[in-house]
Amino acid sequence: YRAKSTGAGWAVYDERLDAPQLHRLSAIGELRAAIAGGQLEVHYQPLVTLADGGVRSVEALVRWRHPERGLVPPDQFVELAEQSRLIGPLTLAVLDAAVAQHAAWQAATGTAPRIAVNISLRCLDDPQSYAAIRQRLVDARDVLTVEVTESALAGDEARQALLDLAQQGVACSVDDFGTGYASLAYLRDLPVSELKIDRAFVRELHVRARDQAIVRSVVQMAHALDLHVVAEGVESSEIAAVLRGLGVSSAQGYYWSRPVEGALLLPWFAGAPSLR
Ligand code: C2E
Ligand code: MG
Ligand code: MG
Ligand code: MG
Repeated sequence: YRAKSTGAGWAVYDERLDAPQLHRLSAIGELRAAIAGGQLEVHYQPLVTLADGGVRSVEALVRWRHPERGLVPPDQFVELAEQSRLIGPLTLAVLDAAVAQHAAWQAATGTAPRIAVNISLRCLDDPQSYAAIRQRLVDARDVLTVEVTESALAGDEARQALLDLAQQGVACSVDDFGTGYASLAYLRDLPVSELKIDRAFVRELHVRARDQAIVRSVVQMAHALDLHVVAEGVESSEIAAVLRGLGVSSAQGYYWSRPVEGALLLPWFAGAPSLR
């Protein structure tokens, strides 16, 4: 910033900042305050075992409880966090919330599913961010698993971080599988235990033979590599049935439940044997 004398005194400004940049800066400031002020909320969506409809695990999905704008979805702020070094504090807040939620479920019902947390590439390839989240993940490895997108499999730092996590006993899934750049060589060498097939291949599975062919071959490859397969974005019983027929063992989607506040999932763990 440069300070410049005006008639009214000294004003601090930077003449290189245009309106969108100023907007971005204020958005970053607002997000930083929101994280520090506890405005982030974590919702949970079940992953269901297709054979019996039981809850296998849940995915933690962050939301921003904004005082004026209501519940803001992650698509509207996670990228900004990744670009502004706020992703570290954001992720720590999500990890703490997830660990606390697991303990609350456990206390209430005597049983609680594992919680999968989304970890951005930035948290793995930036040493400072990684150091902070690594300890949390290792401490909570009996409770949490990690989801990374294929982009995290490509860079050396991130691959090293994933290998390190695996050595520490932290389980890892590849999220949005099929939409990124993962090559088969990466899969062969990486310590991941699960592939989550992206919604793009699942959405129209019941009417698209080509999507069925893709899912079938992913299942075959995954079994050969001893990987678990999850289908994302299941919205109907027809699609669930097709997935079952193709040998997919678990799935996630609005058909069973949208992401909801943790307390709302309690009945599914306490007694109720299945969602459907
Ligand atoms: P993702 O990890 O692939 O999460 C799945 C997204 O699909 C979620 O969107 C979920 O609500 C949505 N979804 C689940 N089932 C269905 C369905 O049947 N139909 C449709 N149309 N959508 C379904 P959400 O919660 O808006 O999250 C979007 C993305 O934001 C996530 O994609 C993830 O990449 C990112 N994200 C969410 N929480 C976090 C977080 O704590 N940290 C980081 N780094 N990223 C996060
Ligand atoms: Mg995910
Ligand atoms: Mg996904
Ligand atoms: Mg996604």
